[in-house]
Amino acid sequence: MGIRKRTLGTIALVLAASMVVSFTISALALLASDRAHDQAEIVRASSAAEEWLAETRTALAGATRDYAQWDDTLDFTEGRAPNYLVDNLTVTSFENLGLAAVAIGRPGSTMVALQRIAADDGTAELAPLADETTAVFLPLLADPTGGSGLVRVGDEAWLYVAVPVTRTDGSGANGMIWLSCVRMGEAQLASPQRLLSARIAFVPRGSSASIEGLRRELELAGGFQDWDVVVSAGSRDARAHEGLTAVGANTAVLGLVLIIATAALLNRLVLSRLSQLSDGLATLRSGDAHARLPVEGNDELDRLAHAINELLASDRELREQAEREARRDALTDLPNRRGLREHLDLAIQASRGQPQAASALLFIDLDQMKRVNDQLGHVAGDAMLQELGRRFAAALPPSDIVARLGGDEFAMVLANTCTTEAAGARAEQVLEVVRRPMELLSTRLELGASIGISFCRPDADAATLMKEADTAMYAAKLTGRGRFTVYDRSMHARVLGELALESALRTAIRSGQIRGDLQPIVRLSNGELAGYEALARWTDPQRGPISPVVFIPIAEQGPLIVELDGQVLDRALAAFAPLLADRPGLFLTVNTSARRFESPDLVADVIQSLARHGVAGEALILEVTETQFGRSEDGWADRVRTLMDQGVRVALDDFGAGYSSLGRLRQVPVAMLKLDRSFVVHLSEGAPGLAEAIIRLASALSLPVIAEGIETPEVGEQLAGLACEFGQGWHFGRPMTAETVAAWQQSLPKPT
Ligand code: C2E
Ligand code: MG
Ligand code: MG
Repeated sequence: MGIRKRTLGTIALVLAASMVVSFTISALALLASDRAHDQAEIVRASSAAEEWLAETRTALAGATRDYAQWDDTLDFTEGRAPNYLVDNLTVTSFENLGLAAVAIGRPGSTMVALQRIAADDGTAELAPLADETTAVFLPLLADPTGGSGLVRVGDEAWLYVAVPVTRTDGSGANGMIWLSCVRMGEAQLASPQRLLSARIAFVPRGSSASIEGLRRELELAGGFQDWDVVVSAGSRDARAHEGLTAVGANTAVLGLVLIIATAALLNRLVLSRLSQLSDGLATLRSGDAHARLPVEGNDELDRLAHAINELLASDRELREQAEREARRDALTDLPNRRGLREHLDLAIQASRGQPQAASALLFIDLDQMKRVNDQLGHVAGDAMLQELGRRFAAALPPSDIVARLGGDEFAMVLANTCTTEAAGARAEQVLEVVRRPMELLSTRLELGASIGISFCRPDADAATLMKEADTAMYAAKLTGRGRFTVYDRSMHARVLGELALESALRTAIRSGQIRGDLQPIVRLSNGELAGYEALARWTDPQRGPISPVVFIPIAEQGPLIVELDGQVLDRALAAFAPLLADRPGLFLTVNTSARRFESPDLVADVIQSLARHGVAGEALILEVTETQFGRSEDGWADRVRTLMDQGVRVALDDFGAGYSSLGRLRQVPVAMLKLDRSFVVHLSEGAPGLAEAIIRLASALSLPVIAEGIETPEVGEQLAGLACEFGQGWHFGRPMTAETVAAWQQSLPKPT
């Protein structure tokens, strides 16, 4: 049951109950006051009745005495006035005096006994007294002094006065008694009843005769011993009933009016508005999110509606915010994976209609995120991601979106980019954006990223496209980082193959299967042996020999490369120590990944290896590729300087192939440059320009250069002509195992 029905029901119930209580109290009060009023009325009526009775008796006594104490009457009783009766006792005299009957006599002899009898037509006549009446009167004639009182005649009370018959002067009593009666029947009492406003009845004492209503039985004065006068002052019950009916009706009408008025008022002011509120709320819940409850005034309910509106508004805001946040990355405020997915779904849908305008999905993975976190802390890592997020967002047209998927992964959906060329150009731009140097905690960072690309098409869902782009990104990382790869169907299998290879490589490193072969480096001016480069070699039992071009990038995905480099260094030093002993002055260059340079253990590890094989630090040169060199500068320079204190030097490998800023060559102490093979190849093709420029530059910086990949004597001579100090290549010798290199060195002519 609703609050409205319950409240109205309760009000009706309470008001009805209070009406009943009020009626009962009123009725009781009414009855009490009625009773008091009745008592007073009875007292009044009773004394009036007594008075009237006394007067009636006095009047009767007067009339009786007038007849009894009269000479004519005495004469008559003594037989001297024969016409006495005819003259004096006439119907008229009876009527005038109101007499009912007259008797004259003494005990044993009654001379006269007459009563007035009225006929129905209003006439009356005098007739002899009925015998029963006479019998009632006889005892009354016995008292010689007379008397007065009520006697019972039939059912009626008769008032009588008896006076002895005497002369007018009171003498001559002869024992005769004159007795006069008036009837006290209904008819005779009608007039006094009217006058007294009360009913009067004479009843024999102890009789059960009653008059309706309140009564008081008067104790009558002497002579009425056997009689009661019952006085009734109206019908109390009837009056009480009338009073109560009136009170009841009033209460009922008042109650009804009260109930209706209260209910209507309450309904109008509160209940109907409450149900409006609840209806409104129900509508709000199911309908328009921006609808509001009506507020018309400023009473409590209006304020409640207002408060609900505000609550709903803030709830709506919170929900919208939660919705927004569920699609946004908190750190960069870019869309997150979910946001990207939704956008991608739309892009896929769009590709159904316009395949020629389909979007490309770029999956971007930063190459150095872990290192930044490790070295500069997570706050710096976060700042880096935020900066990249800003750069990406700023670089995109409104039709494209960039999202952060978590960790160091970003993704872009590029509208209208459905060809490999277009997507590749955009990916290059993204790489440019990533590479733009960044200053973090006073550290200058140069970042790189690997990008995988897939294309929206109707038959692939978002999850598939993301997996494809991810696979392509992984492939890009494997082929050397800092580049992009477009997904093709063979890629997936290849990536799976790489994963298996990584597992085999880990086993190989842990079980010491990696060798450090040595490739000779010669002084180009005279062709004399100057040193060796250590190159990692791995022969997998199942797969056979695997090129470092394949397994080094796999190892560089994680910390495996640090172990691998340490192992190669140790093996190479073991092979190199006797070669050095044989030819003092030789040097050994060992490839060292940036990850190993970033490891705080590098210095101790290198020093230990040198000590283990009894090789002086001066003989060791650590090569680091130009692209990896100084990716984050934190600690690099310090570490290199500590190694330099031990005589160890650092060479920049593959110089010219990357994009090193030359300025940095001064900041980090590099002792040597290795000219990338691609320049040397150009040299053989008759284009010495760049190689020559680099060699000049190195000479300007007083850095010796080792040219890589010299396959012919001509190229060797050409480089010698360009004042390149050292050279390395198949022309001088291929990488050799520890076993063969010793014999090879022995076969060389001794230096002069
Ligand atoms: P890199 O350091 O530039 O090594 C020189 C590469 O050129 C070697 O390839 C070598 O075999 C090859 N090479 C030398 N002379 C010639 C030539 O006349 N013609 C041709 N075509 N190639 C020549 P490799 O051994 O396959 O190594 C490839 C790359 O793998 C190395 O390039 C180096 O960056 C990396 N690497 C090799 N060993 C290690 C290692 O122990 N640690 C690390 N971190 N990287 C290594
Ligand atoms: Mg090298
Ligand atoms: Mg190289």
